[in-house]
Amino acid sequence: AIVNRKPIVIANWKLNGGLDLICMSLASFIGKQFDGTIAICPPYIYMRDMMAFLKFSELLIGSQNVSRFESGAYTGETSAQMLKEAGCSLCLIGHSERRAMFNESNEGCCIKVATALNHNLLPVLCIGESQAEKDAGKTSAVLSSQLTQGLANIALKGRDLCIAYEPVWAIGTGLSASPERAQHVHEIIRNELTSLFGIADAERIRIVYGGSVNKGNTAQLLQQKDIDGLLVGGASLDTEHFLAICQQA
Ligand code: PGA
Repeated sequence: AIVNRKPIVIANWKLNGGLDLICMSLASFIGKQFDGTIAICPPYIYMRDMMAFLKFSELLIGSQNVSRFESGAYTGETSAQMLKEAGCSLCLIGHSERRAMFNESNEGCCIKVATALNHNLLPVLCIGESQAEKDAGKTSAVLSSQLTQGLANIALKGRDLCIAYEPVWAIGTGLSASPERAQHVHEIIRNELTSLFGIADAERIRIVYGGSVNKGNTAQLLQQKDIDGLLVGGASLDTEHFLAICQQA
């Protein structure tokens, strides 16, 4: 990453964790200082429990999803305003698991990005190609439509946005993209962001990599010019392992 884009490491706990993991991970983060920004996205129900610890650490709390709706008869939903009120700083939007298993569309993601921005939550829009799309040489086209549709008519007006590049074939498989390939794709993403928002905003937006990140590949990934942070799934559930990743950021 380049100097003016301070790296961010985001833990995505998915449907894992409990009070024991919270106590363990937060206890080991107390008093630690990091050069980068560190955020944990637990299941919604644990956010408030974690918030109590945050006075003693510099961790940020994020959510794994956000409702596209503001309020009303939408059973099971949690709004951006509620997340903000609970102390949340950022939210993942359009994770590939939500796209694949909960039918999330680019258009729906776009509404969520706008909602998050309106409530001063940092949207982390997740994009990435599947194995089949990669094999068919469609990576650039897939990412381009995820970005143009997922960010259609979004005006940043100085507000921050983060993009997470997570190739679907690398998530939970142990097969991380090589640092060179990830850098190549991040550059494509930044070019797309330049045509959407102009060069100044595109240079400011952090593009993080996710997909089988571990303490062994962290340093090399973060050395790449356009890799401005990491989104960590499996390895974030092991507190010591996650700490080792954060210490390299
Ligand atoms: P992984 O998951 O690190 O376990 O591959 C990353 C993610 O899905 O965000």
